Amino acid sequence: MTKRFGLRGIIVFITLCLFSFSSFSQIKEIQIEFIGNCGLHMTDGTTNFYIDFPYKSGAFNYMEFENAELDSIKDNSIFIFTHKHSDHYSKKNLKKVLKEKKGQTYGPWNIAELEQLGETVPDFSIKAFKTEHKVFGISFKHYSYLINWHGKKIYLSGDTGKTETIGKISDIDWAFIPYWLYKNAKDQNVLIDAKMVGIYHLYPVEVAPAEQIFQNSEDHYPLTKQGERISIKIE
Ligand SMILES: [Zn+2]
Repeated sequence: MTKRFGLRGIIVFITLCLFSFSSFSQIKEIQIEFIGNCGLHMTDGTTNFYIDFPYKSGAFNYMEFENAELDSIKDNSIFIFTHKHSDHYSKKNLKKVLKEKKGQTYGPWNIAELEQLGETVPDFSIKAFKTEHKVFGISFKHYSYLINWHGKKIYLSGDTGKTETIGKISDIDWAFIPYWLYKNAKDQNVLIDAKMVGIYHLYPVEVAPAEQIFQNSEDHYPLTKQGERISIKIE
């Protein structure tokens, strides 16, 4: 090689190697890991978001997770919660994680600050929608979120069963909604304008039926396997 290309050839070769290495290390996708319930870990390789996680493992008989899941949380992450029910939020687990790994926490209690995250996270904005979540007639403070990250629109419904908010949003790339919102939208003929709809927050006994229902769907995907990853390519 030295003989054929000379010193300049070697330098060009090394430069190309470095260039391809650096472009390789830059992730061209948003990776979303399904942790359980509405719990998601979203990363572009630089910023780490945890949505509705950590919650209380097994709360209300919903999905459990191993302690290792808490240990694997990245340092200085941004935690965003739709509401404070224990299948979405655990004060105890969050306190432990923040003590060890630092990070920022957002939810219904500091929406104004949350909506300013775009000032510090590159190529990112988030809009919060106050959405209804009633259990036994009691209303809980609850928000759904629309994230725009690297030009991709990700909608996080949380627990709401109301279709009016999601029904007004156009051109979503990935919408994460619980089965009951999917069902309500279908019954009310409300179009969910999303390229992909992830059905999350399934009871363990609902996992097999959901896989059955959506087995031939190209744009509805039931989140049934904890730890599975979704990739959204960034152009
Ligand atoms: Zn709830």
